[in-house]
Amino acid sequence: MHATDNTASGSYTLPPEIQEFCEVARRIVRDELMPREQEWLNSPNHAYGMRELPAIRAVFNTEVAAHLEKIARDTGLFYLMVPEAYGGPGLGLLAQAAILEQLYYSPIMLPIANVPNILYECQGDQIDRFLKPVIEGTKVTAFAQTEPDAGSDPGGMMQTRAVRKGNGWVLNGTKMWISNAHECDFMMVQAVTDPDKRQRGGITMFLVDRQNPGLRVEVPGIRTWLSTIAKQHVVHFDDLYVPDEDVLGEVGKGFSLGQRWLTIHDRLLRGPYALGKMQRALDMSVDWAKQRVTFGKPLSERQAIQWHLVDMHIDIQALRSMTYEMAARADGGEDVRTEAALVKLCSSEWGARCVDHAIQVHGAMGESLDLPLTLFYRVLRHTQIGGGTSEIQRILIARKLLGK
Ligand SMILES: Cc1cc2nc3c(=O)[nH]c(=O)nc-3n(C[C@H](O)[C@H](O)[C@H](O)COP(=O)(O)OP(=O)(O)OC[C@H]3O[C@@H](n4cnc5c(N)ncnc54)[C@H](O)[C@@H]3O)c2cc1C
Repeated sequence: MHATDNTASGSYTLPPEIQEFCEVARRIVRDELMPREQEWLNSPNHAYGMRELPAIRAVFNTEVAAHLEKIARDTGLFYLMVPEAYGGPGLGLLAQAAILEQLYYSPIMLPIANVPNILYECQGDQIDRFLKPVIEGTKVTAFAQTEPDAGSDPGGMMQTRAVRKGNGWVLNGTKMWISNAHECDFMMVQAVTDPDKRQRGGITMFLVDRQNPGLRVEVPGIRTWLSTIAKQHVVHFDDLYVPDEDVLGEVGKGFSLGQRWLTIHDRLLRGPYALGKMQRALDMSVDWAKQRVTFGKPLSERQAIQWHLVDMHIDIQALRSMTYEMAARADGGEDVRTEAALVKLCSSEWGARCVDHAIQVHGAMGESLDLPLTLFYRVLRHTQIGGGTSEIQRILIARKLLGK
């Protein structure tokens, strides 16, 4: 395998301990994940986008799942994204990006604590009830923002309403496309608490227990091309009561909380998510082009094929430089909201086109479900929609260009 050495990319030479982390991640991918990829890809239960621990347990037997979890915990990679205050190494975004890029080289996700950073807003006993179990992997959460008529414009169009009652709130409404809604232990739900203010102080985030009698998840969910099992669901709130102590953050600040997560955690870290897959696709294509012979010569000697490889390489180099620069600037305290939109846009569009090149170089083999290429393509194409579409990222970038 040729997993990229990203430890010294441009002017971002990573400190030795991060380089070591990258090396450990590379080794685990090579020795533990890649040999199990066939089993993963052949399993009807493999589902991309699920939280890592449940995803592993859905495919592998208990022994293998426990083995992978142990490796993740023993090496410290499990806590890679966790701040020091909660027992993690407190790594900056640049370090996280570099290590995650290594892990995303394989379609199998090593179990790691992947905590939506809004959950770090938990206060008082919310920390023990919600945050810590998610860090430890004993609870799974889902994020419920999108609705049947509110996707790209959730702030303006959200209909789910929370009305004050006693020492709490009563929620009514419907969410749609909610990943993991059926399997989760609790949901982070956005609802309108002040219709006049909406996204400017009128949307609140609630922590809703999956067992709340007012919560109804439609099963089966909506099937997509990301997995054979339906992982996205329609969710109804019918006079669902949430006590004040289960408001996440402040009343009225739930929209900006969600945006903060989407901006940094989600958008910026789409960079390494795509880069690992893009690099893998390129490495596979180089290998294939060297060994596949047509008309008496290996494909690698054909200029048409070399150009596919070079185009992939260009996208990878450009995206890596961009991602690392934005991550370093975020670590330095800069407001990189627009830059994160740029990373999200480029990682999803360049990522999908990069894997598309790889599929073309592989010919029919590129379409084989025994290789990870079509899965990589689907998940990267998905990111042009999920978490804010490419058009929305362009709108955000244009606003900054035009000084709005
Ligand atoms: C697999 C999957 C998983 C998901 N998981 C979750 C989840 O866990 N939680 C959650 O809350 N949501 C989730 N979503 C929903 C996702 O975030 C939304 O689908 C996404 O934000 C786009 O919204 P929409 O589908 O309503 O598109 P629409 O808003 O209807 O947009 C349709 C098209 O019009 C474009 N468009 C819209 N407005 C403009 C404009 N002003 N100018 C130019 N073009 C515009 C869009 O970019 C898009 O191309 C998931 C979606 C999928 C497919």
